[in-house]
Amino acid sequence: MTFEYAPAPESRAIVDIKPSYGLFINGEFVDGNGTSFKTINPATEEVLAEVAEASDADVDEAVKAARRAYTRVWSRMSGAERAKYLYRIARIIQERGRELAVLESIDNGKPIKESRDVDVPIVAAHFFYYAGWADKLQYSGYGSTPLGVAGQVIPWNFPLLMLAWKIAPALACGNTVVLKPAETTPLTALLFAEICQQADLPPGVVNIVTGAGDTGRAIVSHPDVDKVAFTGSTEVGKAIARAVAGSDKKVTLELGGKAANIVFDDAPLDQAVEGIVNGIFFNQGHVCCAGSRLLVQESVADEVMSRLKRRMATLRVGDPLDKNTDVGAINSAEQLAKIRELSEIGESEGAERWSAPCDLPSNGYWFAPTVFTGVSQAHRIAREEIFGPVLSVLTFRTPSEAIEKANNTPFGLSAGVWTDKGSRILSMANRLRAGVVWANTFNKFDPTSPFGGYKESGYGREGGRHGLEAYLKGTSPKGADA
Ligand code: NAD
Repeated sequence: MTFEYAPAPESRAIVDIKPSYGLFINGEFVDGNGTSFKTINPATEEVLAEVAEASDADVDEAVKAARRAYTRVWSRMSGAERAKYLYRIARIIQERGRELAVLESIDNGKPIKESRDVDVPIVAAHFFYYAGWADKLQYSGYGSTPLGVAGQVIPWNFPLLMLAWKIAPALACGNTVVLKPAETTPLTALLFAEICQQADLPPGVVNIVTGAGDTGRAIVSHPDVDKVAFTGSTEVGKAIARAVAGSDKKVTLELGGKAANIVFDDAPLDQAVEGIVNGIFFNQGHVCCAGSRLLVQESVADEVMSRLKRRMATLRVGDPLDKNTDVGAINSAEQLAKIRELSEIGESEGAERWSAPCDLPSNGYWFAPTVFTGVSQAHRIAREEIFGPVLSVLTFRTPSEAIEKANNTPFGLSAGVWTDKGSRILSMANRLRAGVVWANTFNKFDPTSPFGGYKESGYGREGGRHGLEAYLKGTSPKGADA
C-alpha cells in the first residue's frame, strides 16, 4: 500500500516567468518579425507566456549573427579561452540550478525530483566535461578545426538537457550555434540565453530562435548553416535527411527508439523491477531510449508481473512540483492523444491492459502508468514508439529468442539486460543491435559516454570523445573507434 504523504510542493517563487519572450539573436532579446505562440503548463493548462515564432527572416538574422561571431571571434579564440566561458556557464547553471529545475518542471510537466536531481546536474556536467576538451582537441582523434555555424533542433522531452548535448560540444570545438527548442518547452532555453549574457559570452556565439516546424525547417535548409544536429522523431529526421541531401552540410540525427529491457530468470528480481519501472516510467516514458518493450524469461514472467504491478501501484502520479511525485504530466494534449490512441489499438489487437490505480488531476494532461501483457511481436504497441508511460510485455525462453525479438525492430537506440551472469551480459551486448546496452541498470546518462543509435534511431554520437566528431572537420583515424 502507499503511505499518505503530506504535499511537499517546491516553491515556484524562485522563477520569474515573463509575460512574453522575444528571440535571442546576437546576444540580445529581439522582437522578431513573425507571430507568436503560447507555452502552457501541461499539469494545469495555465498559459505561462507568449513566445515569438521566428520567421525565415529572423532565422537568417540569427545565422548571420552566428557567422559573424564565428569568423571574427569564436573560431579565432584559443581553446583554453573558450573553455573559460564553458566553465563559467557550467557554474552559473549550478548556481541557478533550482530555478532551472522549477522552470523545466513547470513548462514540461516532469517531476521536480527528476529535473532537480537528473536533468540539471547532467546539464552542468556536460558543460564541465566539454570545457575540458576545448584545449585538447588535437588529442581527440578527429582533428581540431571547427565546422562553422551549427543549426540545432531539439525535442521537448529533456529541453535543457538536449540543449546541453548540442551546445556544449559545438562551442568547445569552436563552432557557433543557432538552436531551436521545441514549441511546447521553450522557457529553459530562453533562461539559458540569459545565462549566456550573464557569462559574457560574445554576442552571436549562441542564438536561440523559438518556433515550430517551419522555424526548424528554415534553420536546417539555410544555405549558410554548415552542420545540422537534430534530435526528435524518426519521421522528421527522415524529412531533414532528404532536405540536406546533396548539400555539403554535416548531419547528425538522434531519433526514436523501442528498446528491449531483457530480464533473465537468474536476475535479482526486485532490482530488475526497479529497473523496469525506471526504464519506462522515468520522465512519463517520454524518453527516446525508454525500455518500452519488456522481454521477460517465461519461467519468471508471472513472478515479475506480480511484483511489477505491486510496485506500479505505489507510483505517485500528480503535481510535478511536489517533491514526492514519481510520474508527472504528459507534455501536451497532442502527445496524450497519441498515447491514448496507441493504447486503444493495443487493446483492440488483443493485448491485456492493466493500469495502476491512481487518481488523476482533473485539469492538465495525465495518463496512468500502464502495462500490456499478452503482446505479440506483430502488435503495433510492440513495434511503434508510444513515448508515454506504457509498457509492452513479451516473453522468451532462450537467450537466442531474446536477441531475435529484441533486434526485431526498425530502431536501435538502447537495450537493457538483467542477469546474474557477467558472461551472459557480454554475449548479449555483442549481439544486441543497439547504441547503448545497460546491464543491471537502465537510463543511466553520463557526459563521458557516447549516446546514439543504429538504423531508424539515427546516426552520429553525442557525448564523450565520440561526440566531438560531429563538430570537427577532421576524419576519424583508421581504427580509432574500433
Ligand atoms: P519532433 O520530431 O516532432 O520535433 C522535434 C523538433 O523538430 C521540434 O523542435 C520541432 O519543432 C522540430 N521540427 C518539426 N518539424 C520539423 C521540420 N520539418 N524540420 C525541422 N525541424 C522540425 O519530435 P518531438 O515529438 O518533439 O520529440 C519526440 C521524439 O524525439 C521521439 O521520437 C523521441 O524518441 C525523439 N528523441 C530522440 C532522442 C535521441 O537522442 N535519440 C532524444 C530525445 C528525443
